[in-house]
Amino acid sequence: MQKVEHIGIAVKNLAASNTLFSKLLNQQPYKQESVASEQVATSFFHAGETKIELLESQNPESAIGKFIEKKGEGIHHIAFAVADIDAEVERLKAEGFIAISDKPKQGADNKLVFFFHPKSTNGILIELCQEII
Ligand code: ZN
Repeated sequence: MQKVEHIGIAVKNLAASNTLFSKLLNQQPYKQESVASEQVATSFFHAGETKIELLESQNPESAIGKFIEKKGEGIHHIAFAVADIDAEVERLKAEGFIAISDKPKQGADNKLVFFFHPKSTNGILIELCQEII
């Protein structure tokens, strides 16, 4: 594991939260992107060595839609950068962490991503991400 690559925050209204986080962080988002496979719209802000990812559901049945309905807005996941996502996924599975999917897949911000279930990680959804070169 390398650094905390970003913190994902579920929001109800991306436009309103972009305005809010632009004030908070005193900068504009450097990227906005929809991820069709996750039915989510995202925006990214730099925050020193790490980033903030805002996530808005595009469908009530999406993972973010369900999260917001159940828990409201707030921290949705913590993402760690890894150099070799396949190796790290295997290592964590062997340690007993519960994988959410089979294989890493393409996520936002030009990354391969993989998630571990909050049931196995003290209630925090954990994302591993590796930059696609
Ligand atoms: Zn993320």
